[in-house]
Amino acid sequence: MKARGAVGSPREPNFALEAYDRNANFGAEEVEEDEAYNAPAAEYFRDINGNTPLPPITKQLIQAFVERFQAQLNGRQMYEERFLLTARAAADGDFTFIQGQCKALMKKIFYVVDVKLNPWLVGSIEQSHCECAAGSGVEAHCKHVLVLLHGVGDMVRTKTMLLHQVCTQKLMDFKRPRKVYFDSPKQAQKLPCRRTRTVNYLLLKEEDMMENYNDHIKNMAVSYGNTTMPILQTIRPANTYAVENDHQYTQKSLKDELLTDLLLMNPSPEKMLDIERSTRQQHQSTEWQTHRSCRITASNFHAVTHSKASTQKHLAQKILDPKPFVSRPTTHGRMNEPVIQKNQIFPF
Ligand SMILES: [Zn+2]
Repeated sequence: MKARGAVGSPREPNFALEAYDRNANFGAEEVEEDEAYNAPAAEYFRDINGNTPLPPITKQLIQAFVERFQAQLNGRQMYEERFLLTARAAADGDFTFIQGQCKALMKKIFYVVDVKLNPWLVGSIEQSHCECAAGSGVEAHCKHVLVLLHGVGDMVRTKTMLLHQVCTQKLMDFKRPRKVYFDSPKQAQKLPCRRTRTVNYLLLKEEDMMENYNDHIKNMAVSYGNTTMPILQTIRPANTYAVENDHQYTQKSLKDELLTDLLLMNPSPEKMLDIERSTRQQHQSTEWQTHRSCRITASNFHAVTHSKASTQKHLAQKILDPKPFVSRPTTHGRMNEPVIQKNQIFPF
């Protein structure tokens, strides 16, 4: 029944066959299968570039192809408008197979186009096939085939091919000056300037220029305070240990004096009570922050005891100048501590 072009299977096949005979298969024609285009496997194809051996595809050949099918197609225009996405080629024996992807004119899709070239007949087009509605079989002559032929023809003649470009392929040109400057280069100081007053970069007036001007500038830079101004790189850092190792004129050494000043060494019982009282507000009190910054607390104890020489400087910097620490649990604690204290759940 299928051979007669019937759809589905009849309940009484013999009766149905008789009916088909009587009515000449109900007008169904013998289904002719199109000759299928056999392209090599995808892994044999390589992108076409200037070195790809290709049979000469001339303008005359493309013209002859168009005339053969008496087609009126705008393949050249579509090619110049960059409808071709890719073009690849594979050699199989004497034949050259070309495969390309061509954008559809009105839809946002692309068709795979195949062309088989015969080198013995000077690049004659042996077979062509396209995925579009008009390009079935092995004699496709739709505009997509022409776009591919124009692309490969250009590559043969000029070693270039116009392919579809994505937006990032185009070099940016918004920094390119609009006007081209042809004169000789100008010195920056001679550029036109609206400002009339001249800037004096000297720190001192000329009449006050002293003998040891350089030392004066160095001293000013060093005693400026906490800064990373570039001039400091020209000055050797002071040896802080030299002060400690130097002969002592005071009762206490400088180190001891510093530690006492920071209340890190032998604080009096009154002073201890004082610290306790003034830091009860914890993170809300600046004194609490100050005292914390020069002590090894439980939070950084592990880091300090496990620090290496190479990281100690960084760690000290981190402890001295801590970044505010925030996490979900700490935020929760800070928000709810006053509530709990107020409700006397835990009477502190
Ligand atoms: Zn097509």
